[in-house]
Amino acid sequence: MLDNRLMALKMPSKCPFCGKSFFVHVPKTLLENAPHYPVSHLVLHGDPVHACMVYIDAHGMVRASESTDSIQVV
Ligand SMILES: [Zn+2]
Repeated sequence: MLDNRLMALKMPSKCPFCGKSFFVHVPKTLLENAPHYPVSHLVLHGDPVHACMVYIDAHGMVRASESTDSIQVV
């Protein structure tokens, strides 16, 4: 059953670090209730794991992205 709380953006994004293409899935409420745009959304992936930050506008379009393999979890 599809989780209606999640929204898949129509256009794939591409990680600038590894070149992987992926579809961004974000909660609808994240875009509907955002206090400001663009909304930032972090996608962890790969081996070794790294991060791709995507910036999503109010229309659900990814306006920019950046990647890093420098991650700290505290
Ligand atoms: Zn990547």
